[in-house]
Amino acid sequence: ANEPDSVDPSHALFDRFVQAQTCKETQQNFIELCRHLEVEPRDYKHFYSKLKDRLNYWKAKDLWQKIDKRAAHLDYDQGQACHQNKCLVLGAGPCGLRTAIELALLGAQVVVLEKRASFTRNNVLHLWLYTIRDLLNLGAKKFYGRFCSGSIHHISIRQLQMILLKLALILGVEVHTGVTFEGLQEPSGSTGWRAQVSPASHTAAAFEFDVFISAGGGRYVPDGFKVKELRGKLAIGITANFVNRHSKQEARVQEISGVARIYNQKFFQALQTEIGVDLENIVYYKDDTHYFVMTAKKGSLLKKGVIKQDFSDVNQLLAPANVNQEALQKYAYDAADFSTDHMLPDLEFAKNHAGHPDVAMFDFTCMHRAENASLVKERKGKRLLIALVGDSLVEPFWPLGTGIARGFLAAFDTAWMVRSWGKGVPPLEVLAERESLYQLLSQTTPENTSKNYAAYSIDPSTRYPNANLSLMKPVQIKRLYNIEDGKANKPTKPIIKTKLKKDSIRRLEDLLSWCQKNTAGYKHVKVKDLSESWRSGMALCALIHNFRPELIDMSCLDEYNITGNNKLAFDLMEREFGITPVMRASEMTTCGKIDQLSMVVYLTQIRNALTEKHT
Ligand code: FAD
Repeated sequence: ANEPDSVDPSHALFDRFVQAQTCKETQQNFIELCRHLEVEPRDYKHFYSKLKDRLNYWKAKDLWQKIDKRAAHLDYDQGQACHQNKCLVLGAGPCGLRTAIELALLGAQVVVLEKRASFTRNNVLHLWLYTIRDLLNLGAKKFYGRFCSGSIHHISIRQLQMILLKLALILGVEVHTGVTFEGLQEPSGSTGWRAQVSPASHTAAAFEFDVFISAGGGRYVPDGFKVKELRGKLAIGITANFVNRHSKQEARVQEISGVARIYNQKFFQALQTEIGVDLENIVYYKDDTHYFVMTAKKGSLLKKGVIKQDFSDVNQLLAPANVNQEALQKYAYDAADFSTDHMLPDLEFAKNHAGHPDVAMFDFTCMHRAENASLVKERKGKRLLIALVGDSLVEPFWPLGTGIARGFLAAFDTAWMVRSWGKGVPPLEVLAERESLYQLLSQTTPENTSKNYAAYSIDPSTRYPNANLSLMKPVQIKRLYNIEDGKANKPTKPIIKTKLKKDSIRRLEDLLSWCQKNTAGYKHVKVKDLSESWRSGMALCALIHNFRPELIDMSCLDEYNITGNNKLAFDLMEREFGITPVMRASEMTTCGKIDQLSMVVYLTQIRNALTEKHT
């Protein structure tokens, strides 16, 4: 029977926990609820089942059902798959928390460290359909009633963190806010791997773990990982948040799900001629705030006095001293007002974490991507599995909204890896499978991932229809197994050399004619074969331009700048389509032969990526 909420104080405490709007309030209500029910959060193995048993409240039942359904998935072996593993997660951003939840479901002990004491990011994230289904299945609507009720699917970073934090706590994850991870502490004597934290006296410093998940966002990666910098053309992003009063008039204003310049020339032309704001694209989401993200052209920012002085170096260009904040606010305000047809009444900036108008300018000219997603360190016989997830693995371009979609895919792939680790699969095999999946990540789109969202789990085969889990062989990733003496284990499987199959001639002809068709008519480009014709880099640039004219200005290219042209093409292919280059740009200038097999592999991937996006 439905008892009135006031009868049992634990019901009111649970309600307060579920509805809490800040990180602090959530943690306080959670502690009070646990105290009241006499359940110990540190007893992570039994915490969830005890909480469920002791909180006999109809409002919680629906949530328990959802969690139970997820937890019953075969992948987790009833919470036994990783029952001996201890995992430290750096960062309570959406990706760190989402990974933590999966690790808890696998039965591991999970500790999350978050340097911030509060969740304050208003900016809004685009969600692919699978992420919505994933969050709904985990009971997101219980924590945030408005979740994905609009026509476009999105959520503020803050709200998403709140939902995931509550779920993580319910599943027995220990989350420490206001604690900064400073580095790894190698095993010594009888102690295992630990973290150096600040404040140094925090209890988290004593936690010993065998899995470390680095989800610190941005460009932070732990020792041992290399980051690639992928340079594109100058891209200056601006985000702005305005107060949403949820009035009827505001409700009528249309969202903009991503207008790129090439698709709506007229709109951008009018924006430029009427108010002098020159943009490449703009997105508007109506969420907790009215959120805008746009890519602005440097010329108009200089003209409007947003950027004070022109510099070719982007860091100097966007250095705080070179940005006029008031002019930036005016620029963002004008863009927001114009693109919503002046329909949003009383546009007033929302406040950011520092209490200032929430408008910011970011440089997306160089995007960063980790070269590998995982590694194993072994010291004094103690192994540590280290994995990157979220922005620190692949930095997203915000206006495209791939951050959470690819971030959660990597979180699931990582959980799958930890599962193998927990089951005792040899380290090189664990790493090889993870790295094979990582090759796919930047190429994932809503189109090429499975549509059967209900079946999504941490098992990669439920998400990637044609994933090749043994694309990378253990021998290829030996360097990722870092043992004290610097030597890695022997490979457990022999390398299988790729051989061109007999019918390859026909396939080569098809590929060549596709390349010729799509580079026809470009100056200084004549594709006659699948090797030498590509040396100057002009043909690669022409291919990109043919499909994505906004990415390259062909008139600026010099056919003799072989390294420059190839570097540009390689970077764009990697950044926009996730295709890793097969050689260095500088190698193209040497007189050695271009390896046809490598070029064929590369061009085949390019054809797949370009035709998929354009059919
Ligand atoms: P984050 O969300 O960045 O989380 C990383 C967490 O790690 C943070 O909470 C950070 O405080 C914590 N951390 C870092 N270092 C340490 C340490 N040493 N010790 C302890 N904790 C640490 N995406 C969009 O699509 N649109 C946007 O408008 C947008 N705006 C953004 C604005 C900002 C200021 C930032 C930082 C990111 C923004 N993003 C935006 C990116 C988006 O937030 C991420 O794609 C998404 O949140 C998933 O990222 P994540 O969980 O990997 O990392």
